[in-house]
Formats: sequence, C-alpha cells, structure tokens
Amino acid sequence: MNDRLGRPLRNLRLSVTDRCNLRCEYCMPEDDYRWLPREDVLHFEEISALVDVFLTLGVDKVRLTGGEPLLRRNIDRLVRMLAAKPALQDLALTTNGVLLAAQIDALRDAGLRRITVSLDTLNRDRFKTLTRFDALDAVREGLAAAHRVFGRFKIDTVVMRGVNDDELVEIVEYGRTLDAEVRFIEYMDVGGASRWSPDRICSRQDILDALTKRYGHIEPLLEPGSSAPAERFTLPDGITFGIIASTTAPFCRTCDRSRLTADGMWYLCLYATEGLDLRGPLRAGASPEALAALVTDGWRARDDRGAEVRLALGDRRAFVPVQDLLRRDPHLEMHTRGG
Ligand code: SAM
Repeated sequence: MNDRLGRPLRNLRLSVTDRCNLRCEYCMPEDDYRWLPREDVLHFEEISALVDVFLTLGVDKVRLTGGEPLLRRNIDRLVRMLAAKPALQDLALTTNGVLLAAQIDALRDAGLRRITVSLDTLNRDRFKTLTRFDALDAVREGLAAAHRVFGRFKIDTVVMRGVNDDELVEIVEYGRTLDAEVRFIEYMDVGGASRWSPDRICSRQDILDALTKRYGHIEPLLEPGSSAPAERFTLPDGITFGIIASTTAPFCRTCDRSRLTADGMWYLCLYATEGLDLRGPLRAGASPEALAALVTDGWRARDDRGAEVRLALGDRRAFVPVQDLLRRDPHLEMHTRGG
C-alpha cells in the first residue's frame, strides 16, 4: 500500500509512554509537562491488536520508543506479544540506556533482537548538564549489557554545535570497543526542541569533516533502495558509522515511517500537527477490518514531507513555540510521539 508519493507503509514506531527519566535539553527541557491521561494510555492487548492491523497492511518493522520505553512496567510482556507475530520481521527498541542493564535479559528472553541506545556524551559533567541527571554510569552499564547480550547494536548521538561536537571521534572509538555502530543525528527542530536554533546544528558535512580530519578518507557505503534514515560510511580501518541528516538533507522521499503514540494517535510525519485517533474506534469496538480501512485511507492520502518543507522555509525557529508545547497539546512533543 503506497501513499500519494509512492511510499509504502512499512515502519511503525510505537511510543509506549510519554514519560522519561531524563530531561535532555534538546527533547524534554522542562520540569513538568501535560502528560497523557493514564486512562488513555493503551493496554498491551490494545497495542497488540493495532499492530495486527498494521501488519495486514504491509508493516513489517516495529520499533518501541517513547518517552523512555523501559519506564513502561512489564515492557518485556509487550515484547513477547509482538515477537510472537510471524508477520513481524523486525522488532527493535530505542532506549536512553539508564534502566537497560536491569532489564536486558528479560527483553532478550521475550524475543527482542535489536536495540539502539542513545548516548550524546561520554563526559560525566556534560551528561549531567545535558540531561539533568547524573546517570552516565548507569548508561555505560546499559551499553556494556547491550554488547554482552546482543553483540552488535547501535548507538545514536544527537550532535549539537558547542555542546558535544568535540566528542565525535571519542564516541566512534567508544562504539568500536563495544562493537556498536554509531549514528550521528543532526539536531532537529522538532517537538520539545524549543531551544533549537540554526547555529546549533552540526551538519552532516561538519560531521564528515571532523571525522576525515582524524581518520582520513571516508568511503560512503552504497545501499541502493534502502529506506533507512542513516547514510552509512566506512573509515579506512573498516569501522562503519552512520549520519542521519534529517535537518540539512532530509529523506522524506523514502520515508516509510509512521508513529503511534501511547494513547493511540497515529502520526504520518514527525512534523505533523494532526494525527488520526485509533484509540477511540478501537475502544468503541471497531473490527480489525474497520480499523484497517481507517489506516488505509490515512496512508493513501499521505503527502507529508515535513522535514523538506521545514528546510525550504529558510529562516527557521523551533517548530512549536514552548508555550504551545506546554499548554496546548502533549502530542506535539517529541517525547509523546517518539523519536
Ligand atoms: N528515551 C529513548 C531514547 O533516549 O532513545 C527513546 C525516545 S527519544 C525521543 C528517541 C531519540 O530521539 C533519541 O535518540 C533522541 O536523542 C532523539 N531526539 C530527541 N530530540 C531530538 C532532536 N531535537 N533532534 C534530534 N534527535 C532528537
């Protein structure tokens, strides 16, 4: 099933909670938020039923995210329910790593096979400033556990000028010790990035320049037909890394991702201001066929190119002003919608 720009529905990012145990300044900088009402948050059985609908329509990849997905109680039970679905070819989870060491065995036993850990700095004081929690040691334990249990995994690093752009080599080298592929993400003006400004972007080119300076020639890895957001590269010694250039070189034309929030709102673009409510019809007893018809109509009408439209604006400020984030609609937040 293709949308209006010929893009298939394949990747579903499932946010399982809007809560987080960090307060990263580029994502969730405030102390308090308007949280999703608890009674609106989907039960695992409801999530599983919606995933079944998506699977019949072409989705074959699901990534659990949040907020911080490991804050959702018994998340391994959801993993077990999803991992048992034969049509689901790829089940992954993105975490900040703080609670990972304690949960990783249960997650693996439940059937999780792929994990991405976010890590923006290896400097303890900087971590504290950036996230407002002194949790770098816990994250390192989580990263070591990910290596022990999964062997290879991914590390995602948001790069911000003047904040952590001096740590790129260190993070690549750290990834090497854990057999983790590092992916550098350009700072995006989405959701909670209310302190975003263009001069804080460290672009794909800046990242390549910094790594070339240290390692020499960097070879792009050609992956024709890939819809993955990261462009991958190889260093002279064979180490690979990725860059997700969502801000300066958006990849809307191949975007096959959509997002389901913890309360069952379905968003077709990270920048979309409107979503489609699937919780309402689900709880009102809609059949799987009726839900599939809603999703089909939504996807067929999709023509979103949020990141490209933002880029074309030229003069950019944060996508949603902070006062709107706090007072208007929690769904506009990155931590509600999932990264
Ligand atoms: N708590 C989990 C984590 O830390 O990975 C999952 C949710 S988090 C919203 C998912 C990803 O979005 C993280 O890698 C985070 O760094 C990224 N992210 C959040 N705000 C961002 C921004 N303004 N620009 C780029 N990436 C961002």
